[in-house]
Amino acid sequence: MASEKSYDVIVVGGGPGGTSAASFLAMKGRKVLLLEKEKFPRDKTCGDAISGKAVGVLAELGLKDALERAEHGDVCGVTFSSPDGKRAEIFFRKKEGEIEKGYVCRRLVYDNLLWNAAKNMVDARDGVEVMGLVRENGKVAGVKARAKGGEELVFKSNLVIGADGVSSVVAREIRGSDVDADHTCVAYRAYYSGVSQMNGTIEIHFVKSIMPGYFWIFPADGGLANVGLGMLMSDMKKKNVNLQKAMQEIITQNPLFKSRFASAQPASPLKGWSIPLGSKKRALHSDNVLLVGDAAGLVDPFSGEGMGNAMLSGKIAANVADEALLAGDFSSAFLSKYSELLWKEIGEELSLSYKMQRLARIEWLLNLVISKAASSERAREAIAGTFANEKAKKEYTSPLFYLRLLLS
Ligand SMILES: Cc1cc2nc3c(=O)[nH]c(=O)nc-3n(C[C@H](O)[C@H](O)[C@H](O)COP(=O)(O)OP(=O)(O)OC[C@H]3O[C@@H](n4cnc5c(N)ncnc54)[C@H](O)[C@@H]3O)c2cc1C
Repeated sequence: MASEKSYDVIVVGGGPGGTSAASFLAMKGRKVLLLEKEKFPRDKTCGDAISGKAVGVLAELGLKDALERAEHGDVCGVTFSSPDGKRAEIFFRKKEGEIEKGYVCRRLVYDNLLWNAAKNMVDARDGVEVMGLVRENGKVAGVKARAKGGEELVFKSNLVIGADGVSSVVAREIRGSDVDADHTCVAYRAYYSGVSQMNGTIEIHFVKSIMPGYFWIFPADGGLANVGLGMLMSDMKKKNVNLQKAMQEIITQNPLFKSRFASAQPASPLKGWSIPLGSKKRALHSDNVLLVGDAAGLVDPFSGEGMGNAMLSGKIAANVADEALLAGDFSSAFLSKYSELLWKEIGEELSLSYKMQRLARIEWLLNLVISKAASSERAREAIAGTFANEKAKKEYTSPLFYLRLLLS
């Protein structure tokens, strides 16, 4: 086993969470090792929708223009359809003369952009899989890893950031395996070319056969569509739903989609992955360890968006890691500051999204809201207003919001 040099911080996993943590630490002058088991560019099963929160952190990393230059699909609004087949298109509001826009960027492209930026600042090694934590005198003192080709390596650090996704080795070592079917979503995704009637919006369809889950069509670059569906693991088991079959049925038999997919061709295999929802508060730190992104279980329980919180948690972890290095204190008590700061930032939003996830189980309510939005410009305006910020989204959980929609 080859023993190598030591670092201020070792970051395990080169997705949005890990690259953000590593880059922010490097910007503070820290010596960072970033380890990723795959070779870049690599795909990650995802819807590829880049939330405003992710774009905000990307801008802080100085990478917003790089995203603009990268291959991506522009998004100008959201289309919803209800279990009873009504369809409403809601376009983003104009902001000072400009239409607010969103991005769909294939993870093959997006993660590569983040990885290359981090690689310019830190010791970033892909094709190196972390096998576990190294402990000395009972304390975490680094990681053991294996390079492609089989060589075993040991890297030393007082602080390890686990950003290794939903099946995190680092998280498993500090808190055991934690797959809770009520707080984990299962989702499948494939790329298609030739889907008709794409209108530049993110499409979220509450299809009856997979309720309470949803089917999506997102406009990626070059005429590709990111097509997928997801459901809470506990519902999937309870209702005995086979998501691969359900997807096939939706695109070949559902009246809303079969003509749209009549000439479409799959451009990739259908792949499944699980999504750890932030509706459950999991441990985010221990002595010498911080967890970020999916390793910490921070995905929005309503929308399934996880890149924004992965990048934001990476940034907050970098700040706290820097403070721990200054203080020379890597104890769980010191690192608890990370959990406190992160929950303060996203806790309310996650619990609001959880409430929305529960509301979206009520089929008649979805039918009512979407049919109202389909027929009333004022209802669409009211919903578009709530896209703008988190405070406004609170309206979704207020009975008055629905009353106003009905009367609009
Ligand atoms: C089908 C689906 C659709 C989704 N749609 C969206 C969406 O549209 N928008 C959105 O914002 N979010 C979406 N998400 C969620 C999003 O994909 C995740 O929340 C996000 O990728 C989390 O980023 P991360 O950096 O924490 O983890 P990941 O992106 O999973 O990155 C973890 C990295 O760690 C590496 N790794 C794992 N184990 C090791 C190891 N032992 N050693 C070294 N490296 C390791 C992995 O190879 C990977 O590169 C979706 C998820 C799924 C499954």
